[in-house]
Amino acid sequence: MSSYLPRRDLETHLVENQPPPLGDYNAFSDDALIRSGAVLSCGAETLQHLTDFGAACGSQEAREQGRLANENPPKLRSFDRYGQRLDEVEFHPAYHALMALGLDAGVASRAWTHPGNGHVAHGALMLLMTQADCGVTCPMSMTYAARPALSASTWADEAWTPRITAGRYDPRFVPADQKLGATMGMAMTEKQGGSDVRANTTRAIGLGGDEVELVGHKWFCSAPMSDAFLTLAYEEAGLSCFLVPRWRPDGTRNQIEIERLKDKLGDRSNASSEIEYHHAYARRIGEAGRGVPAIIRMVQHTRYDCMLGAAGVMRRALVEAFWHTAHRTAFQRKLIDQPLMAATLADLAVEVEASVALSYRLGRALDSGGDEREAAFARLATPIGKYWITKR
Ligand SMILES: Cc1cc2nc3c(=O)[nH]c(=O)nc-3n(C[C@H](O)[C@H](O)[C@H](O)COP(=O)(O)OP(=O)(O)OC[C@H]3O[C@@H](n4cnc5c(N)ncnc54)[C@H](O)[C@@H]3O)c2cc1C
Repeated sequence: MSSYLPRRDLETHLVENQPPPLGDYNAFSDDALIRSGAVLSCGAETLQHLTDFGAACGSQEAREQGRLANENPPKLRSFDRYGQRLDEVEFHPAYHALMALGLDAGVASRAWTHPGNGHVAHGALMLLMTQADCGVTCPMSMTYAARPALSASTWADEAWTPRITAGRYDPRFVPADQKLGATMGMAMTEKQGGSDVRANTTRAIGLGGDEVELVGHKWFCSAPMSDAFLTLAYEEAGLSCFLVPRWRPDGTRNQIEIERLKDKLGDRSNASSEIEYHHAYARRIGEAGRGVPAIIRMVQHTRYDCMLGAAGVMRRALVEAFWHTAHRTAFQRKLIDQPLMAATLADLAVEVEASVALSYRLGRALDSGGDEREAAFARLATPIGKYWITKR
């Protein structure tokens, strides 16, 4: 949409005392709240990378893509015009542009390709991506978080880790081994049980070895165009974790039917869906009957991203609040100079600063490798941080 020289001298009134457009800014180098704490000790190469990404995420162009991706939400294409099943989701080009922006910059991969400070850098990348759009951070987050769960099985690690850490966005709907990079989602929640995944009813029917076919439904599957999902299903040994690819090993479409897309309050650029498995091909990850411990490794890292996502949204709102109050006058003063408004903005800034600091602190714990004390801290701080920051 063009905002070039809009008419302000209208027949009935003059449009005045409105802020100018926010314009381009660098969401990293111009932002003392995001460019702070642990991230400052990540080294020159990382800081340069974040500065470049910050310029892209703070640009008017990226915000415009965010607007377009949310105002033109994804559409489900269940069938082609001849009645054959597709089960695909169609996105506005702005969504693809934002996915490429983030995945190509390593939002989902850098934590694993840059050990030592990768999780802190991932934190900054997530905060920056959120300044352009939040919806796309959902598939990015799940792709990032899947990595530790994959390591529960050698075959999964060898086949899928290189794909999800490739740092490339490839939107083509083709088998993952033909793509430059892959994304991964998760499907745990069922109608009768969300938090309580032991109430799941999806069944795994053995095909021999660790291969199965799944029959059942999932009530929440965000990012259904992911190349694979980690999912939970019951088999004889109990609840197990499986990797379900969108394509079967013989190159045909896996029987994952997308029932409908969720009509959500926010997060509209992202396509959360309800799905059914109709003898969908899958392979077990980790031990049979130990599905929760396997998938919880993924959940742990998505919780870190819930902290970052919420902190990022608050930061984005604060940017708008500062800009607006710095340019609007009420009672002969700029709003930002009115003592009560200044106190309100300061309160909000403290919330953001604390959220970002806590997130980076957790990132540092995740980066600490085998340190027992840091691992114990991460175990406690992750759910508490997610609870606290999302509530704020
Ligand atoms: C935008 C969005 C995207 C999502 N994407 C996915 C996805 O990709 N894959 C997926 O598997 N799921 C996804 N979910 C689903 C999400 O994981 C579930 O909503 C979540 O696990 C909670 O389950 P529930 O909604 O069934 O709530 P319930 O489990 O029914 O809980 C209802 C309420 O009770 C509280 N509660 C639960 N247990 C207890 C307890 N023991 N003591 C006290 N209070 C309790 C909960 O905190 C909650 O407030 C998504 C949800 C949203 C909103």
